[in-house]
Amino acid sequence: MAGRIREEDIAAVREQVRIDEVIGEYVTLRNAGGGSMKGLCPFHDEKTPSFNVNPSRGFFHCFGCQEGGDAITFLMKLDGVSFTEAIERLADKAGVQLRREDGDVAEERPKGPPRQRLVEANRLAQEFYAEQLLSPDGAQARAFLDERGFDKEAADTFGLGFAPRGGEVLFRHLRGKGFSADELVTVGLCAVGRSTYDRFRGRLLWPIRDPSGATIGFGARRIFDDDRIDAKYLNTPETPLYKKSHVLYGIDLARRSIGTSSQAVVVEGYTDVMACHLAGVTTAVASCGTAFGEDHTRILRRFLHDHEDFRGEVIFTFDGDQAGQNAAMKAFAGDQSFASQTYVAVQPDGLDPCDLRMRDGDAAVRELIASRTPLYRFVLGNVVRQFDLDRADGRVDALRAGAKLVSSVRDRSKVDAFARELASMVGADPEEARAEVRRAAARAAQGEGAGAQGAPGQQGGRPGQRDDDRRGRPGGPGAQGGQGGQGGQGGRGEQPEPARRRDAVPDLRDPRFTIERETLKLVLQHPVAIGRTTADIHENDFTHPIYQGVWALVAAAGGTVAGAQDHDWVGRLRDASTDPAVSSAISALAVEPLRTAKAPDPDYVVHHVVRLMELTALRRIAEVKSRLQRTNPVEHAQEYNRMFGELAALEQHRRELRDRIAGPA
Ligand code: ZN
Repeated sequence: MAGRIREEDIAAVREQVRIDEVIGEYVTLRNAGGGSMKGLCPFHDEKTPSFNVNPSRGFFHCFGCQEGGDAITFLMKLDGVSFTEAIERLADKAGVQLRREDGDVAEERPKGPPRQRLVEANRLAQEFYAEQLLSPDGAQARAFLDERGFDKEAADTFGLGFAPRGGEVLFRHLRGKGFSADELVTVGLCAVGRSTYDRFRGRLLWPIRDPSGATIGFGARRIFDDDRIDAKYLNTPETPLYKKSHVLYGIDLARRSIGTSSQAVVVEGYTDVMACHLAGVTTAVASCGTAFGEDHTRILRRFLHDHEDFRGEVIFTFDGDQAGQNAAMKAFAGDQSFASQTYVAVQPDGLDPCDLRMRDGDAAVRELIASRTPLYRFVLGNVVRQFDLDRADGRVDALRAGAKLVSSVRDRSKVDAFARELASMVGADPEEARAEVRRAAARAAQGEGAGAQGAPGQQGGRPGQRDDDRRGRPGGPGAQGGQGGQGGQGGRGEQPEPARRRDAVPDLRDPRFTIERETLKLVLQHPVAIGRTTADIHENDFTHPIYQGVWALVAAAGGTVAGAQDHDWVGRLRDASTDPAVSSAISALAVEPLRTAKAPDPDYVVHHVVRLMELTALRRIAEVKSRLQRTNPVEHAQEYNRMFGELAALEQHRRELRDRIAGPA
């Protein structure tokens, strides 16, 4: 396996990549003044732009949904790529050569055509194939679509095409556009035999796109009886762009709906994805040429994660046959924190969504998805049904088999409910079912020896605890160790209610926080200009706990003087944060334009920093005055005089601050 990417190369990517260019490929950005740019947020639906990018600080933040981070986080969140993939893409863009920690010889990225060339070749191929679909030769392919209820508009939406039957039509077309045979083979459009030839011949083609909409490969269906290749479907082979274990057909169209609805529907084939989307189920995706696997799960989770604390549901469509049941069983045995949010929509009469739509219309497809049942119930039902429940021994066996399954559920908070459900399926007493589950758990614990999994036999543990612990793991399994820790995912699990904490972010328009906010913006965006002016600032100068949290990180990082020497100042602070609300505030403060159109001069800095301290002095003055009023000067003369002295000192301190704001002039 390739080792970790060297830290200095990651730093180089961070330094050289331009966040406005990266985001500009997804979002139209306009200048918003103060060095900031604005656009419509890609993470939530909105009509007026609240998505801000600060190119000089390398940060983005949305004031609508509180998403924020750097270019790396942006790609991870929007495209669902891992930290490493995000770095690789940005390195390509910035022209940084990545090296690995373990490479004794500097192991470089595989030599070959740059990614942009391959993407461009696919784009042109897709256009070419789409034109061919309209040609007389494409008649058979059009008939195929027509029979399945897909009209020209549907074909356009999904970019469908037809690969001509000749052996090198596409090859010649793209050679004419300046692509080398090597590039066309690398991207999988052509293959090499005695000569270079088109990989897809005489087939109906679905372009497979990445989440950003770039075509990265094709799926090709057999439509001619005399096709010399028997396989019903051919796919692009593994290429630098196309990794079948990661590819989700339809994700470009579905990702936004998945994010906003926190629901994803997994279907079997290209036509099913099309049928679902056309029927209004816009969260449908499918794996391509391979079973839906763990990498797919991981990618979907990232898109679901984008919404808020992971509460999304993933719905698999299954026909009730053995293959479907096996697939469900496998999904259940896999990642269980995922399984608990997994649902199954069992197709009536075994009709897939495409056939169902043909027979019964769009509404039937929507009903199929709406009829979902939790995966565990589906699996449990399948297990129980294998036994003859009319016989006493059959019920005992069913209970035992079901209990084994229930006891494997790691979320202890669900075990009891599952046991009750098992009891009602079998027709047993709930207490009997619970006892059987306990016995199954004990047996499993013995089998596992020391029980490294964490107390499988322990009943009635703190509900939900384990599940939350797992969910809080930063970066997820695909992220590269500690490097995946930045961005909004870090430390999520430590806050039991991140959604609620978000509400604690101060209202931007609340004038009580104007000075605090502006000062922190200066600290984050202009550490050089603010310099040592902040030397006397203390955490208590900030009244909002989140701003106190931001300042605490600044102080711990060495203060603004340290920030002046660090181009990744904001990123470092954000990485150091364990509170999502503070992380979010940091990215917001890093992108929000200053309240001045000019670059901040010393006057501007002093006005805010010193005013911040003056406000603290005023608060303390008010406090002391109030205590003085409540103190009897005769009965508590000593205390009264002490406070009076304190008040005088505070007033003096405050006057000095006033003078600094007024300046020497
Ligand atoms: Zn947003």
